[in-house]
Amino acid sequence: MSSGPLARLGPPLVTFVAGVGLGELAIRALDVSPLILPRPSAVLAAALAESASLLPALAATARAVLVGLALSSTLGIAAAVALAASPWIQRAFYPYAIFFQIVPIVAIAPLLVIWFGYGSRAVVAAAFVVSVFPVIANTLAGLLSVDPALRDLFRLHRASGLAALWKLRLPWALPYLLTGLRIAAGLAVIGAIVGEFVGAVPKAKVEELFDAQFRDAVPLIPGFAASFLSHPTGELGTVRCRPWHLRGRVALIGDAAHAIVPFFGQGMNAGFEDCRVLDEMLDLHGSEGWERVFSEYTAARKPNADAIADMALDNFVEMRDRVADPAFLLRKQVEHRLEEELPREYRSRYSMVMYGAHISYRAAQEIGEIQREILDELCAPLASATDLDLGKAKRLIRDKLAPHLARQRVSLDY
Ligand SMILES: Cc1cc2nc3c(=O)[nH]c(=O)nc-3n(C[C@H](O)[C@H](O)[C@H](O)COP(=O)(O)OP(=O)(O)OC[C@H]3O[C@@H](n4cnc5c(N)ncnc54)[C@H](O)[C@@H]3O)c2cc1C
Repeated sequence: MSSGPLARLGPPLVTFVAGVGLGELAIRALDVSPLILPRPSAVLAAALAESASLLPALAATARAVLVGLALSSTLGIAAAVALAASPWIQRAFYPYAIFFQIVPIVAIAPLLVIWFGYGSRAVVAAAFVVSVFPVIANTLAGLLSVDPALRDLFRLHRASGLAALWKLRLPWALPYLLTGLRIAAGLAVIGAIVGEFVGAVPKAKVEELFDAQFRDAVPLIPGFAASFLSHPTGELGTVRCRPWHLRGRVALIGDAAHAIVPFFGQGMNAGFEDCRVLDEMLDLHGSEGWERVFSEYTAARKPNADAIADMALDNFVEMRDRVADPAFLLRKQVEHRLEEELPREYRSRYSMVMYGAHISYRAAQEIGEIQREILDELCAPLASATDLDLGKAKRLIRDKLAPHLARQRVSLDY
């Protein structure tokens, strides 16, 4: 009876009920303003009224705490085992583990947001950072405090280092480790809450943004804010690799060979072009074996994949940095006029990539470079696109662009 659930839960429950009851009575009796200290009954009523938004928030915090704790237990135990392996490693790294512990979490939380972005990853990182040290310190203390007589016994029986770790040191360190985990559990909650203060995106902000920008979409997406918040910001990247094939046995196509950032809308198309070129190479070199086919396919596609990767990144930088720049807007207007006035001689790089099916990515990139020089020269003296000197434009196109198009046998008349 003395160790049953009632015996364990009874005392804290009685303390809780008595504490809350006394608090309620005291606040009422002293007539304390709810702004300074709300009554427990008012807190409970508000929690019930707001439970629809509080429960998912609680679940998100609990998830971050559990993931942070799982990381700190696994990595903390691994770090302690590594530190216990040699006094040299211990002297080299342990002071930094201590230093890491004394840096306040509020000081490094903004850095975590910069590294991991706003959202759950920064919160998990904060929970991990504050909870990992007690796991390391306690497990290490346990591993180092093994009874010397038992250690000698293992040595006498020629037990391997791994066997001694598994059968003696870790079991010996278990009580220390559990104490460390108990401390870490509390700290992980503190870390997650500090992380949320700095790195979480509040639901209200998401609702505000959607309300301002996508009001008509909101009713069509059930639970949109919760869904938005539970999907961390994805990462975009460029894959550049070589070779694309391993002898005649395997070859890469599509994103596996050349994933690109999606700012030219060409990723899928580039993959389809791979298929077309591979098919052509099979027709041309199929009789010479797969290795030849794959080599020819790589030689034909790699420069084009690199070109579209560069252009997609260019477009990203353009959209990020330049769309509000008056000089850039003037340049776009001039380019638009050139396309209208000289449709057979001038096509923007965007038009060549999107609509010039016969123009390769590499060719569009090279032509774009020449056009950039032409536009530099045309735009330098201009205040407005209506002042464009069409005669000068025609001369520049004839002297700089046309010879290149003729050499490359590329027609802009499409
Ligand atoms: C936000 C965004 C917008 C985009 N917009 C455009 C656009 O407007 N126009 C355009 O052309 N392209 C666009 N793209 C790019 C386009 O989606 C990709 O280039 C295209 O999907 C790549 O096709 P893929 O078959 O090469 O690779 P994937 O589509 O990535 O297919 C690979 C498949 O392999 C599976 N897989 C991975 N590992 C294994 C394994 N070990 N075993 C079995 N299966 C595995 C994956 O689950 C996946 O289904 C965009 C991409 C993004 C991210």
